[in-house]
Amino acid sequence: MRAIELFSGIGGMHFALKECDLGKNIEVVLSVDINPVANNVYRHFFPLTNHKELNILKIKPEQINTYNADILLMSPPCQPFTRNGLVKDINDERTKPFLHIIKNLIPQLKSLKYILVENVKGFECSITRGELVNSLKQCGFNYREFILSPTHFGICNSRTRYYLLAKKEPMDFVITSNEIVCENTWDTNLYKSIKKVSDVLCESGVNLEKYLLNDNILLKYHKVLDVVSKDSDRSCCFTRSYSTYVHGTGSIFSNLEHEKIQKIIKNDNCDLETLKSLKLRFFTPSEVAKFMCFPISSFPVSDKKAYQLLGNSVNVYVVSRLINLLLS
Ligand code: SAH
Repeated sequence: MRAIELFSGIGGMHFALKECDLGKNIEVVLSVDINPVANNVYRHFFPLTNHKELNILKIKPEQINTYNADILLMSPPCQPFTRNGLVKDINDERTKPFLHIIKNLIPQLKSLKYILVENVKGFECSITRGELVNSLKQCGFNYREFILSPTHFGICNSRTRYYLLAKKEPMDFVITSNEIVCENTWDTNLYKSIKKVSDVLCESGVNLEKYLLNDNILLKYHKVLDVVSKDSDRSCCFTRSYSTYVHGTGSIFSNLEHEKIQKIIKNDNCDLETLKSLKLRFFTPSEVAKFMCFPISSFPVSDKKAYQLLGNSVNVYVVSRLINLLLS
């Protein structure tokens, strides 16, 4: 079978395909993204893939039909649907390439049998989602929708996302209800490797000084930090602004005990020296990648760029389970 990966970013979907039993022999025959930085990283990880730096709006159905793809994997830009954004939905310029795929590409792709879409939680309420499922119904696809987080699979990191799986009739899903699935009820095969924060930590020897939070951040923001320690079995979603902003962009690490940290950072009169003694630091890009179940540990770009790209990407394990469900 042959797959096309649109809005490919750093290739989270491609990694997921290679990680899952039913997907590992599937070839990605075309991947497309408009962002040159993401594209360099993608080519670094998948040098043999036919990867194109293109605006998806410019892709014509005739062009894409020549690939005879069976599977379409895509994570369109999520900003138009993000709940704390403007939620401009179909009126957002960034939704245009997605609408082009829904209206002009999917109906013309003759060989297409399977589709996987990823987006933010909130997408399920959008007009774009309505357009997507209407188009799928008209084109003879059965579909199921999911709102899932890696925590549902035993992974200590939250990243609640919307997913849609679709397959061409007469193929259908083992899950019979058409309601959105908000829990992992079909797959008890939990991920064993990332249960606690200690499972992602860098080996000793890596210089972690540069990841320490600076004095200004410590003084200004210590009360709003989400600090986790080695034994924590949770962490928050890492976004593209991780390390640029500290509030709501991802968890911070300290080697000390959880109770001790909380006591100090919630104290109104906490002084700088005490805060510094906590040695609060950002997780490194390779640690964030581990939370997201990427099978790689280094990026050919700056840390800042790596956080941005990872923040846009997917949890590889969750997507791999969904691909298995799609193809089973
Ligand atoms: N799943 C990807 C990330 C998707 S984020 C990963 O694993 O990394 C959305 C991506 O869509 C971004 O990389 C962005 O560069 C790309 N994109 C946005 N508009 C586009 C367009 N018009 N044509 C091609 N790619 C586009």
